[in-house]
Amino acid sequence: MLYNVAQLMKAPVGTSLVYDIDEEDVQLDSDLKVIGPLTGHVRLRRINQGLLVDGWVELTLDLTCTRCLKEFEQPMHVDFAEQFNPTVDVLTGLPMPPIDEEEIFPIDEHHLVDLTEAIRQNVLLALPMVTLCREDCKGLCPQCGHDLNLGPCECQPEVDTRMSVLAKLLQDGSNSES
Ligand SMILES: [Zn+2]
Ligand SMILES: [Zn+2]
Repeated sequence: MLYNVAQLMKAPVGTSLVYDIDEEDVQLDSDLKVIGPLTGHVRLRRINQGLLVDGWVELTLDLTCTRCLKEFEQPMHVDFAEQFNPTVDVLTGLPMPPIDEEEIFPIDEHHLVDLTEAIRQNVLLALPMVTLCREDCKGLCPQCGHDLNLGPCECQPEVDTRMSVLAKLLQDGSNSES
């Protein structure tokens, strides 16, 4: 997802370019499997120091359910808005002072904006901590590992700790009586 912004960097503040995004076979991150195309829309707008790049993408991720460990497909809509600053002056070709703000992305020395890293970060931020194959996923039996979405297993339900303490007291009591 590369955009040449040499002309845009020479344009007055407020000038913008818009593009549709339609990418096949996107690899965003080694831990993120994208299924099918990534589509969206991006606007690159000239601001004082560089460019404001905003828009949205739609993609489907192959995720693993936190509860039952099954893989499932999660469609996502992710908005983004990031600032890109030049590393090279577009008029003189001279290097610019280094960008010392972490949240600002670089426009490389060939005046290219690479959206991939910005989209990767925004997709990661949009991912929930707990990913569920469905809202009411029953998960796996902690004793035998059976997928409880497929029905109950043979295991006895785990006894609540307070109940087992009580059971032990009762048992001790009956032992001392005998
Ligand atoms: Zn699940
Ligand atoms: Zn079980």
